[in-house]
Amino acid sequence: MTRRVPDSCPGVLRLHEAADGPLARIRVPGGRVERGQLQVLAEAARELGDGNIELTSRGNVQLRQVRDAGALTGLLEAAGLLPSHTHERVRNIVASPLSGRIGGSANVHELVPVLDAGLLAAPRLAELPGRVLFTLDDGRGDVSGLNADIGVHATGTDEFALLLARRDTGIRVSAADAVDVMLAAAHGFLDLRGDDAGQWRLHDIEGGAERLADLLALNRGADRLEFTAAQDIPIGWLDQDNGLVSLGAGVRLGSLPARTAEFIAAIERPVFITPWRSLVITDMDEWTAEQVVRVLAPMDLIFDANSLWLQVSACAGRPGCAKSLTDVRTDVTAAVESGRVLPADGAAPHASAVASNPPTHQDIPIRAADEVTVAGRQHWSGCDRRCGRPRGSVTDVVATDSGYRQSPPTP
Ligand code: SF4
Repeated sequence: MTRRVPDSCPGVLRLHEAADGPLARIRVPGGRVERGQLQVLAEAARELGDGNIELTSRGNVQLRQVRDAGALTGLLEAAGLLPSHTHERVRNIVASPLSGRIGGSANVHELVPVLDAGLLAAPRLAELPGRVLFTLDDGRGDVSGLNADIGVHATGTDEFALLLARRDTGIRVSAADAVDVMLAAAHGFLDLRGDDAGQWRLHDIEGGAERLADLLALNRGADRLEFTAAQDIPIGWLDQDNGLVSLGAGVRLGSLPARTAEFIAAIERPVFITPWRSLVITDMDEWTAEQVVRVLAPMDLIFDANSLWLQVSACAGRPGCAKSLTDVRTDVTAAVESGRVLPADGAAPHASAVASNPPTHQDIPIRAADEVTVAGRQHWSGCDRRCGRPRGSVTDVVATDSGYRQSPPTP
């Protein structure tokens, strides 16, 4: 598939002109926010943005209504959050958030800075579209289902499967070679794409994954792993292998208020932004972790895996997006707070419609915002583009001119 326009993913140096003002996206390789960096992001959100840090489905962050792009650039550079002007948009690296602390076959967080440095060191790789995604899965299968262009998945302590366009290629590489092979694949993607800037992702190129695997000229075994989108995100108390504690914290609609971020920064522990728009706060002793829950739960961080807030996601909607037909986030917030978001095993109003013959758009009733009741994972959108929709089985709640259309869950 070739699009008519080159990729225009936002960054810090190229802001997106959203309907509510300029939007900056800041890449956070592996989702890891170092000590002090979260404080800087909070300051930037409060002083230069709308007061919130938005978490993205690639473990990056966004600031909305940016008032002074130059000041933001300086702030982020000083904090090490903008190490390159040429490569800033290509550093889309997602890694298993709990890797190296809880379970997993390998510690992929050790590979993230190596991959990031390799990307930054190759001038040509600045040409990668901002949509290209790299994943490193430590074998637990949490991020290999995220539709990466180029990924590795640990199959043992020193062996990784190479994934291209999300699928296992049959190629197996050692930990020492994993990053070099990913970088070679990134160069190969550019070789295959040639001058066609309308091909943003590897799967946009016809036979892209197969052709790229051939280009790498590495041995391919017959076994192929299958991956699905992870449903169980890390929430609540998580005992680390070394006796310390991590806390998985859900964030309402992925929007973290600057003040809450400052409280988290004050803990002075490594924090990971997950691709499920949540956080993992790591390396605490039990007493510290208990105090964190006591202070931050009343500030709306979610430590309860049964919270109905974890069932819902939403696009920007109004006023952030000019295409939106309504203020989606206000509507979904009202649905949660008035008990119209039900647990996954709750009675879904459309349950009888989930049949072997899925209904067409014409068959699905349109409901006013305050009449929408949905069970289980659901994504609310201001239009049919359904931006930010999570992977996996999700009910779509899509705004129309006359209300919301609520489609049965689809993968
Ligand atoms: S789904 Fe539609 S309304 Fe929502 S952010 Fe995307 S384009 Fe805008």
